Amino acid sequence: MKKVAILGSTGSIGTQTLEVIDEHKDIEVVALACGRNISLMEQQIRKFKPKLVSVWSKEDAAALKTAVADLYVQVVYGMEGLLEIATMPQMDILVTAIVGMLGIRPTIAAIKAGKTIALANKETLVTAGHIIMPLAKECNVPILPVDSEHSAIFQSLNGERNNKIAKILLTASGGPFRGRTIDQLKDIQVEDALKHPNWEMGRKITIDSSTLVNKGLEVMEAKWLFDVTLDQIQVVVHPQSVIHSAVEYEDGAVIAQLGTPDMRLPIQYALYYPNRRSLSGKRLDLFELGQLTFERPDTETFRGLSLAYRAMERGGNIPTAFNAANEKAVAMFLNHKIGYLDIIDIIEASMEQCAFKENPDVNEILATEQEVYDFIDSRW
Ligand code: NDP
Repeated sequence: MKKVAILGSTGSIGTQTLEVIDEHKDIEVVALACGRNISLMEQQIRKFKPKLVSVWSKEDAAALKTAVADLYVQVVYGMEGLLEIATMPQMDILVTAIVGMLGIRPTIAAIKAGKTIALANKETLVTAGHIIMPLAKECNVPILPVDSEHSAIFQSLNGERNNKIAKILLTASGGPFRGRTIDQLKDIQVEDALKHPNWEMGRKITIDSSTLVNKGLEVMEAKWLFDVTLDQIQVVVHPQSVIHSAVEYEDGAVIAQLGTPDMRLPIQYALYYPNRRSLSGKRLDLFELGQLTFERPDTETFRGLSLAYRAMERGGNIPTAFNAANEKAVAMFLNHKIGYLDIIDIIEASMEQCAFKENPDVNEILATEQEVYDFIDSRW
């Protein structure tokens, strides 16, 4: 029986991972980690019986320990807790489904311990891809993408051995504000931006999808995962979110993966790779759908995507500045502290002021994150 640990088990990806596991009942959940949602964590402990659980604060760990005193489960906390889970001997696959750069250290630790990574936490690759990908290669550890687009690319590469990729076609829904002008974006409120047309996701990634920052992060993620240049990645707006992404080969053949928008499929593909399993849910009905449409992304209105390309072209710690500024700005927007368009202005200003470091190590990445946070605090 495969043994899985989930970092971020109470979030959108985490709970759907547990749904998939519950559907098949042939994977053992050995560890779970969350931030602060200890009431959902208690339910998950009672249902899946993990041996080890981590929460963020010492106080929450104490409260959770009391709540599950009738069960045999060890409760730990903080970064040490995440690292303990990432390296636990009786675990095969680590699902990284926490948000933000918090995932870097546990992912590195798990790779060094030889664990397969089912990677949802794209921010780790965006900021530390230059460390994580060579390390995974050196340790012979597979990084299995959970992000739907990257899973689609991964599936489209299956069986192609060493055939060269000409181009990756990375699809994007375009978000809820596709077709609007800058003027029409000025007064966007949090509630508007949290309504994604096709996908149910966590709050941060839903905002990122609306600004196209998420697509920018995905371009960077694809670059690291599939070892292609930025020129080889073409973002295609496809509002129906049916083609989850595609690969064009040297001979012009394009292989794509299609399906209804349901994150459980890429999650399941990573958990059972290379095998496919049955999965409940709606099937794709092309007659019902009628047509699929495609557009070029509007990078003048949605500058999140063009800034991401600029960050990646500059490289070094600039993608970290892009990502950290976005994390902070999105949190400020969700707390009604700044306007919608300020998110992009904050990212641009943070990238411009960031002191360039060519090949940052983990400490320098985290120092860049802190510098960006301090800069934003001093200006907004
Ligand atoms: P959510 O906000 O729904 O969930 C985040 C999870 O991280 C929660 O379990 C949360 O715990 C946990 N967490 C937050 N802070 C900490 C902390 N300090 N220590 C430990 N755990 C913590 O996010 P999503 O599930 O939407 O996204 C997770 C990752 O997956 C992101 O990187 C996102 O970009 C990526 N992704 C998500 C997709 C989606 O469909 N949702 C699609 C593709 C990628 P708590 O609830 O207790 O705060």
